[in-house]
Amino acid sequence: MTRIAIVGAGMAGLSALDALSKHGHVVTLFDKSRGSGGRMASKKVGDASWDMGAQFIRAHDAEFMRTLKQWQVQGWVGEWKVTPHMIDAEGIRLSDDEVTRYVGVSRMTALSRQLLVPASEFFPSTRIVSCQRTDSEWLLTDENNQHYGPFDSLIINTPPQQALPLLDNSHLAAAIKDVKMLPCWTLLLAFSKPVESPVNAAFVHDSAIAWLARNNSKPQRDATETWVIQANHAWSQEQVDAPREDVLQALEQAFFTALGVQGYAVSEHWLHRWLYAVPTTPLDAGALFDANRQLAVCGDWCLRGTLEGAWLSGQQAASYF
Ligand SMILES: Cc1cc2nc3c(=O)[nH]c(=O)nc-3n(C[C@H](O)[C@H](O)[C@H](O)COP(=O)(O)OP(=O)(O)OC[C@H]3O[C@@H](n4cnc5c(N)ncnc54)[C@H](O)[C@@H]3O)c2cc1C
Repeated sequence: MTRIAIVGAGMAGLSALDALSKHGHVVTLFDKSRGSGGRMASKKVGDASWDMGAQFIRAHDAEFMRTLKQWQVQGWVGEWKVTPHMIDAEGIRLSDDEVTRYVGVSRMTALSRQLLVPASEFFPSTRIVSCQRTDSEWLLTDENNQHYGPFDSLIINTPPQQALPLLDNSHLAAAIKDVKMLPCWTLLLAFSKPVESPVNAAFVHDSAIAWLARNNSKPQRDATETWVIQANHAWSQEQVDAPREDVLQALEQAFFTALGVQGYAVSEHWLHRWLYAVPTTPLDAGALFDANRQLAVCGDWCLRGTLEGAWLSGQQAASYF
């Protein structure tokens, strides 16, 4: 039985937890956020709720497909029966996309809560600022100078920029330091009446927006009319430090323009800046391992910038222990 700490309870960390707990390891997770899920986040404001980060899960890998099907049987995910539209300068048309998309029910974070269950302990709202390796053990310290451990092994599941300060001089830093992540401004809107449009989801071009989706068209959501609007990465990068009010207005306007509708009063809204949204050049390594220190690093940026990539990365990290 090994005592393993995982810093970061995103999909990769939760995937590692799943594999490690099946092998009888005792796993403790830490996350700086109030809950688990990382970029698989949901947001609630008043009666409105949205999936604020990852919008859906799709599978290419056979093992991940089996896992998704199992989650579906367990009632943790449902199929989102949607055919996205394409919106560009020429107008709105249905795409020929036949992808099967799954979503956590009744929100994306609900899946992360289920995946967290095997943890021996979970410390939310705990930002780890230092990981120190003694001769054979790891000791962790948070920003309030609280200490945790000892642990036999450590898995770091954070974006690369947040992993670097935690590596305690491991040689893994060299592989990580050049991995770049792009930002994504995300606007969440709620309306007191349905927006009349055939569109439930769309890939958008020729606009500040890359993706928009009617959140309440997903299975088991509240009935409140809610939309998720994600800016494209180039626009988000250009506007990364722009005043929030300017970003909000620009994206709201781009949303109405894209759908070709007007006259809808926004009842609730939320604007979020994902600073580390997607990796530009993932490592294609799966995960990284420093055997001398019993340290693994995982995350979507080690493989592919999707939930599937994160899950596979977490499985690989767990396989080292
Ligand atoms: C806007 C947006 C839309 C997306 N849409 C999709 C989609 O539709 N489909 C899809 O498959 N993928 C999508 N993705 C990508 C997907 O969300 C990610 O690939 C996946 O969630 C990454 O998981 P992860 O575990 O690698 O990292 P993360 O989810 O980022 O988890 C890392 C965790 O580490 C924590 N952390 C960081 N530093 C510390 C610290 N010092 N101490 C403690 N905790 C720390 C963070 O709080 C976070 O919870 C989207 C991403 C974004 C941002």
